[in-house]
Order: sequence, then structure tokens, then C-alpha cells
Amino acid sequence: MTALVLDPIYKAHETAWDHPESPERLDAIEDAFRQSGLLDRVSRLSPQPAPLEQITRAHDRAYAEEILRTIADGEPWLAGGDVSVCRRSGEIALLAAGGAIAAVDAVLSGRAANAFCAVRPPGHHATADEAMGFCIFNNVAVAARYAQKVHGIERVAILDWDVHHGNGTQDIFYSDGTVLFCSTHQSPWYPGTGAATECGVGPGEGLTINRPFGAGAAMPEIGGAFVDDFLPAVRAFRPGLILISAGFDSRVGDPLGEFRLTDADFATLTRAVLDTAQSVCDGRVVSVLEGGYSLPGLATAATAHLIELYGGHTSRVK
Ligand code: ZN
Repeated sequence: MTALVLDPIYKAHETAWDHPESPERLDAIEDAFRQSGLLDRVSRLSPQPAPLEQITRAHDRAYAEEILRTIADGEPWLAGGDVSVCRRSGEIALLAAGGAIAAVDAVLSGRAANAFCAVRPPGHHATADEAMGFCIFNNVAVAARYAQKVHGIERVAILDWDVHHGNGTQDIFYSDGTVLFCSTHQSPWYPGTGAATECGVGPGEGLTINRPFGAGAAMPEIGGAFVDDFLPAVRAFRPGLILISAGFDSRVGDPLGEFRLTDADFATLTRAVLDTAQSVCDGRVVSVLEGGYSLPGLATAATAHLIELYGGHTSRVK
């Protein structure tokens, strides 16, 4: 059984007019999931706000308290204009991290084989003490820490196929020997980090793997990085849980990226991750939405991803 976090509450995080990270992204995903026939077959999870003590396992307490206060005060832009928010955005950001936590609970308790979290705001640009790139709290980082501290999972792998580098996730785990972070991303591109030479330090040395590619990169480059570098590293690392930072702005036609992955490519990547997960951690995968800004592209790519998580083939679904 695949679990799904998809809740209208996430639309209450309202961003500025014409902002690409819009509530309509969730409508596009929900409509496509419904049309696929999957919406009634997956196990729906109800997200709760992540408690501050879970947030502060990935973020500085001073940062978390200050950003929630700033948002509640009505400040419309955070991080010098990098993050557009409304007064409810703090609450919704806690719910986004809480959605990832609910999915970790479902998968690690065995109630679900895997899970997809269609949450927003996204998270992978949020560092330990900074909001940036539409992100407030780092949902996958909070989920990884939660799996470790609450479920006793020793090692967690995070695979990030968003077109942008997951600088926040890298920042949080850069010197951590218990979390493997692997990212494909466009370079040069926002946020400017993620060189192949950024490999982690101290106990984390070798546990950050960056594969930057130029505009136009597609499955030969991105799939190659997964098959040749990331998945062998995951097998060697033997994590108890695999998280995916599932950004669909690496799909062809996205307005904020110049990669050329197709819906079929996301299905292939998903299957490859699931196969590896099967061999190292009983198939336990929790996927968390990051970017994806073409509404039709996001809808079809996320659906291809969910179909693969659910079990492989549309014919089995319809
Ligand atoms: Zn992105």
C-alpha cells in the first residue's frame, strides 16, 4: 500500500500574485491523481503540525522561533524577497514537515510500503538557520531526523532530483555521518551551490554526492548519476529509510529549469530507487514534493511517480 499526504490545508499557504510556487500546484496534482484512478486506492494520511522539538532537530531553535514570529507579524517576504508568505504560512510550513513525519510513521510502522507527500511550502533550500528559495522548514531533513530519533533508524539516504541543488539539506547534514545526501541539479543555476567537489566533511566526508549538469541534461546524465553513483552509494551505506526530494522542475518545459526529463523518466527513476530500497531497507521510501512549476507538467510527472510507487503499471490501476 502506498500512503499519500495530499490535503487542501496546504493551499492556505498563499504566495504573491503570479508566484510560481502557488496553491494551484496542489489542485493540478490532485486532479491528475484523481484521473489516474489512484486517489481512492492509496491510503490518505492526515498531517498534523510538526512539533517545534521535531523542527529543531534540523533547524536552530532561534531561527525556527524567529521565522514563525516574523510570519505571524504579517511580513509578506522572507529572506530578502526569496520566500513569499501569508500570515498562515508558518502554520502551513509546520504542517508540511508534519506531513513528511506522518509518512515516515506510516512507512516505518509497516502500515504503508512507501509514501508520497504532496506538501508545500517545499523544503530543500531551507538551511539550519535560513529560509530561502520558497522554503521555510526543510521537510526531508526534519523527516530524516524524526526517523532517527523517534524510530531508531540509524542511517537515512536522501535522493534529490529537483533541478535546483538541495543546498539546505546539504547544509544540515554536511558533517553528519548518518545521512547520505545525493543531488542532481542544473549548474550554473540557482542557488549556485552543489559542485561535485562538495563531498561532506568530518564524519560526513563522502556522504554528500553532487552531480551538477548543464542546461538540457536529460536521462543519460541524470539517470546515469542515479544508476552509476547514487544507488551504489545507497547500497553501500545500507540506510534504514530512503527519502526522495521529489522536485518535478527537472521535467522538460518547466519555467524554472532547463532539464529535459520526461514523465516516463520519473517513472524509471522511481522504479530504480524502489528496487534499491527493496534490497537495503524492505522498500521503505518516503517521497516529498519539492519544486515543479509547470502545472500540467507537475501533474503528469507526479502522477507517473505515484503510479510507480503504487506498483508499476497504469493497467493495474485503471
Ligand atoms: Zn527546484
